[in-house]
Amino acid sequence: MKCPVCGKGCIRPASEVLAEIEQRYPACPACAPETNLDKTKGAKHLPERVLRCSSCGKATLDGVMLDALRLLQEFGLRDKDDTLRSVGSPLIEVGYPLAYSPRLGPKSLIIFGTRYSKEAAEAMIEQIPEIKGVILSRGVAGIEDYETAARENVLLAGCDMRADISQSLFGEAVIYKSQSRIHIEFSRQSAPKMRILEQLYLQGKLRDVVDGLCGPGTLGLMCALAGAKRVVFNDAWLAGVQNVLLNLEANRSLLGIDEIEYLEVPKNPVGKEPVLVGRAHGSCEIEVYHGDLRRLFSRAKPADICLIDHFPGAKTGEMEKACRCCNEIIIV
Ligand SMILES: [Zn+2]
Ligand SMILES: [Zn+2]
Repeated sequence: MKCPVCGKGCIRPASEVLAEIEQRYPACPACAPETNLDKTKGAKHLPERVLRCSSCGKATLDGVMLDALRLLQEFGLRDKDDTLRSVGSPLIEVGYPLAYSPRLGPKSLIIFGTRYSKEAAEAMIEQIPEIKGVILSRGVAGIEDYETAARENVLLAGCDMRADISQSLFGEAVIYKSQSRIHIEFSRQSAPKMRILEQLYLQGKLRDVVDGLCGPGTLGLMCALAGAKRVVFNDAWLAGVQNVLLNLEANRSLLGIDEIEYLEVPKNPVGKEPVLVGRAHGSCEIEVYHGDLRRLFSRAKPADICLIDHFPGAKTGEMEKACRCCNEIIIV
């Protein structure tokens, strides 16, 4: 599958990603012990660099972040007192809850932070083999509510396509995200949203579900994995909807999808009147809409369960009112 951001092979079938995830990040027997550099010490107190393993070629996370710090110093964007932490947040290409610090191979880390320039970001991609993309942060990406403008972070260089592995008692799925346009959620073993889905599953309620503010589709995809017969995805944010279509494709064998139909291609980054952009058929009947949740049920059939996974602190009153035609509304 071609990556919609860089055109290369970033998107792989979920079954392949899951099969090799346990081998992806551990150290090899020849890897030196973790360097554990002090994240609060200024650059002047840190080593010049940390060597890659001579056997497997992988780098420590500290080693990559240190290279990035040195490079940002060369560009005058950090000084001798800036710390490793000042470089930004490291996002591993395939997010997975790890009990250890990952060892990194080529193009396996996306850096997200502030005080970068385009030139410095391009140099990071060229000179630091492990870095796949550099994102300039402007805050939480997406639509906070329907009244304020949408926010995107800026992909300065490389590719921002990454995935998170979503785990639950009914299985695992791989959720791809064009990360500069989708808000960041760290993979945690105790993901509270997944516990809510598991409760519903155990009560036999995950059969006919609307994922009303679906983003890249994590909750709805997990419902399909849990055996739901019908899942409706909806988001006003086009980037989310595009990621859902990609995730249906990447997870199609896990979800028992026989066919995916690509319908209307929306142009507006923020949708209003709901538009059916895609459908999938198989063990689960899936519909994907781009539009305002408050208008969704003028087009889509109401469901047993309507999940509303809103921005923290966002007002959901009007959305809840519009979704009352569903049997049960769950604020996630
Ligand atoms: Zn890519
Ligand atoms: Zn090694």
